[in-house]
Amino acid sequence: MEEISVNTNSRIEMLDITSQLRSAISNSGIQEGVCTVYCPHTTAAITINENADPDVTADMLRKLSNMVPAYENYQHSEGNSDAHIKSTLVGNSAQIIILNGTLLLGTWQGIYFCEFDGPRTRTVWVSIT
Ligand code: ZN
Repeated sequence: MEEISVNTNSRIEMLDITSQLRSAISNSGIQEGVCTVYCPHTTAAITINENADPDVTADMLRKLSNMVPAYENYQHSEGNSDAHIKSTLVGNSAQIIILNGTLLLGTWQGIYFCEFDGPRTRTVWVSIT
């Protein structure tokens, strides 16, 4: 079990945390297994998607914001219902196979921490088994 700290810089953004996860796996010494990446926040998420063209994450964030506007007739008094909804839509964990001591990802895949109510300092829990 490892904990990764993530500093986000704006209200919504997707941060590539693949290299931090690769370091955690390298430190564990595990050659073959499973890595579970878990986001313990209700206004953030974890996803795996393209890390080659930054337009992909920009398009995803724009589309999510179009689907779930920041301001609407939400009841939640904290004023961040859109962030809670986006968190649930994207999901709060990912599982990745570990092979030969590293994450088994597709050529264009990266693992993203998705911030929907930043900027904040966030935590990601990583279980390597
Ligand atoms: Zn809230």
